[in-house]
Amino acid sequence: MNSRVLLLGGTTEALRLARELGPHAVYSLAGLGRVPDDLACQVRVGGFGGAEGLATFIAEQGIELLLDLTHPYAAQISANAARAVRMAGIACWALRRPGWQPGPGDDWREVDDWAGLVKALNGFQRPLFTLGREPLAHLHEIPADQHWTVRCLHGQEPMPRADIIGARGPFSLEGERELFQRLGTDVLISKNSGSQSTEPKLQVARERSVPVLLLRRPLLPPVAREFTDLAALREALFE
Ligand code: NAP
Repeated sequence: MNSRVLLLGGTTEALRLARELGPHAVYSLAGLGRVPDDLACQVRVGGFGGAEGLATFIAEQGIELLLDLTHPYAAQISANAARAVRMAGIACWALRRPGWQPGPGDDWREVDDWAGLVKALNGFQRPLFTLGREPLAHLHEIPADQHWTVRCLHGQEPMPRADIIGARGPFSLEGERELFQRLGTDVLISKNSGSQSTEPKLQVARERSVPVLLLRRPLLPPVAREFTDLAALREALFE
């Protein structure tokens, strides 16, 4: 695999693939999380300046193939990727991880957006938010009968009716069991990321008959080739 690829990352799978790429490849991160310093490929950090900026980067760097391995909820960068490759005249391959599916006994409720989520939380007292930083913008709106726990990348000082835990996956089943028990979680809020590394919380919710509110997945644009798992993408890339 000697073509010059640009890998859009920010996920476990992207990092795994980046570890296999040589110095002709570029691994791109938005800059919100950790930046690895032990890769053989080039690493760049920060936005490109929309689809136009990405198309310019592709042209200037002589990129021949764009790989979109961003998170399923990172809809903006995936939309930019699909537009940029049309402008630049190259192909985009994407990893489109399937969402989790409920099993017997699961009480999963899908919500469209933050307003839908707030409505669905009515009647619960101890929600556990595991969908990133968005709840932090709403800490002043916590109803009097609720105490929130927000788990996201960076923790903060506790507030009268909220705890903000800083943590990074993968999360173990035992750890999640302990967390639900300690918090008395009565509802779990999550994105439907489909990632194995964050799946144990769903099993614990099932064991404890805790309902799960899932933020609906955004629509992602079609690209030249879509893969549902990393192994298939790797095979096509290195064949
Ligand atoms: P987003 O809303 O789709 O993208 C916002 C902007 O961030 C993009 O327009 C782009 O800026 C820049 N960007 C995003 N990913 C980039 C990348 N890999 N390389 C360079 N620039 C990038 O994305 P988001 O939801 O904020 O997520 C940001 C990053 O975190 C993504 O890479 C994603 O894979 C990762 N992540 C997201 C989630 C999630 O729940 N959303 C969860 C885990 C990891 P310009 O327009 O200036 O190019």
